Parts: sequence; C-alpha cells; structure tokens
Amino acid sequence: MRVLLTGAAGFLGSHLADALVADGHSVFGIDNLCTGSLRNLEHLKRDPRFEFLEHDICQPFDPGHVDYVLNFASPASPVDYYRLAIETLMVGSAGTRNSLEIAKKYGAKFLHASTSECYGDPSEHPQTEEYWGHVNPIGPRSVYDEAKRFSESLVMAYHRYYGVDTRLVRIFNTYGPRLQKDDGRVISNFMMEALTDKDITIYGSGDQTRSFCYISDEVEGILKLARTDEHLPVNVGNPVEWTILDCAKMVLRVTGSKSKLVFCTLPEDDPVQRQPDISKARSLLGWEPKIDLETGLKLTLDYFRSCTEVPVASSAALGTD
Ligand code: UDP
Repeated sequence: MRVLLTGAAGFLGSHLADALVADGHSVFGIDNLCTGSLRNLEHLKRDPRFEFLEHDICQPFDPGHVDYVLNFASPASPVDYYRLAIETLMVGSAGTRNSLEIAKKYGAKFLHASTSECYGDPSEHPQTEEYWGHVNPIGPRSVYDEAKRFSESLVMAYHRYYGVDTRLVRIFNTYGPRLQKDDGRVISNFMMEALTDKDITIYGSGDQTRSFCYISDEVEGILKLARTDEHLPVNVGNPVEWTILDCAKMVLRVTGSKSKLVFCTLPEDDPVQRQPDISKARSLLGWEPKIDLETGLKLTLDYFRSCTEVPVASSAALGTD
C-alpha cells in the first residue's frame, strides 16, 4: 500500500511511519514541523519507501494516488495547543477536510487520530465510546477538544454523505521515546525534572488521574483498527489508571532520582479523571496493551537521558579549526 501520513514528524506519526515501512508499505509523510521534528524521521531519510513533504495540510495538497490516509497532524500537548491555538483549530477543520478530500479523490481508506479529550472532564468513568463527553466549549483546552470533536463530525459526514471508508481512533495519554522533552506533558516534565535533579512539578494535589499507554502498544492498536471496517470511534489506550502523584513516585523510582515533589497551580479545566474502557478494542481488535507504566518508563529512560545531554560546541563552531 501507499499511505499518506499527516503529522509524520510527530511523536505518534514517526512511530507509525516506522511500523508501516517495516510492514513493507510506502509512506508519503507530510508535516509543517510546527511541533514535529525532522530528527524523528532522520533514520528514514534514505529509505526509498519513505517520502517527505514539509507542508501545512490546511493548504490544499496532492500526494498522488494513495491507498490509505492516516490523519495525525495536530499539536497535541496542552502547552503546544495553548501556544498554537488558532493553528490547532484550523488543522482540525481545514486540515482534516483536505485530508478527507484526498481519501475521497483516490478512493483511499481513512483513519483519523481522535482523542480522549472528546470526553472533556468526564462525568462517566471509565469512558466508553458511547459517552458524549463533558467539554467546556470556550475554555483554554477547547481549541484542541473542539477541533478534534469537529474533526470526528467531519469524518462521519464524509463517510455518510460521500461513502468514504473512515475510522476514528480515540487515543488516550501515550508516552515513549521521541516525546518532545519540553512539550509540557506530565511524562516529559517528570522525566526531565527527575533526570536533572530539579523539583518534580505536580499540578494541583496530584489526585487527578490519567491512564498511560506505551507507544508500541498504541501503534499496534491503531494499525489493528486500520485493518477493520469499523466506522464508529474506538478507544485505544491503557486502562490502568494512575494518580499523577503515584506517577511522579514511579518516575522517581525508575530514574533513581532524589528530586523533591512540589505542588503547583492546577491548570484551568484540567480533567479530574481519565480511564478508557477498552472492551470494544479488546473484542473488535483482539488487542490490549502489554507494557505497564514501570516497564514503559524504563524503556523511555535512555531517550530522556539523551535529551539532558547538552551538545558540546564543536571546535569549528568555536572558530579554532
Ligand atoms: N501535570 C503535572 N505536572 C506537569 C505536567 C502535567 O502535574 O509537569 C498534570 C496535568 O495537570 C494533568 C496531567 O498531569 O493533570 C496530565 O497532563 P498532560 O499535560 O500530560 O496531558 P493531559 O492529559 O492533561 O492532556
């Protein structure tokens, strides 16, 4: 298959690119690099099965014939989507539409990266796909939440009105190598703080919960969904729920760090709890995550260690030959 992958230089996108190329597919990756990095694709540069175009998908584009479209372009960490608020709204609307147009034009299958943020600050727990969510439509997180909810609506409309063969994956918190070290997410912050002996910054009391999925599990679930004919949303995440405080303690254990825990202000509308009900993924995909948080953090340790290393200025840069 020839696959169009938007957001190819991002954390999820680049891991998907690796898995697709390893499976023998050709990948046409697009990214405007607003949060993604070419470093994530460095190893694919000379692979003939991988092409890359630096482009903002909000502007029309045409990769030529493709068999599948995986739509993964969007800022995704709260810090990034606060900074890139309008861009986030636009990529979830105009960008998703342009990607859907490619699928329509070439008769390609389509899978869209949606999110647990569709559930907002959920009043049902754990969250099943039937839950409609509890989202503040005008709060600071709304630029991401509503963009993703609009995308879901647009994807379903292209399916219903134009017969595009679509899928929606609702992704819960995912972590692993290639997370941006400064994306402000909890795992990135805690790992970087622990490895540099800085205080671990817990927002609020740390009683709020998240459920963390290791990247290889997430990629496996997404690609299994891509092979089905399910058009309605499917949760793909790790159902083991952690308080942020316990997550911080696990980071201290895995890193062996002596950093202190400090408590800071909780961001506005920060969801109190998050846990996917993955019954649908289990029965439909025969999938469930294999890697627990402790193992996943250990697998991520070398990556974050490398992020703490300050590059040594070369002699050329110093002008000494
Ligand atoms: N969080 C924290 N300290 C940090 C970064 C995040 O306590 O340095 C908390 C944040 O308030 C939230 C949870 O960790 O309750 C997850 O935050 P993240 O930004 O990773 O993603 P979210 O699930 O909120 O989109």
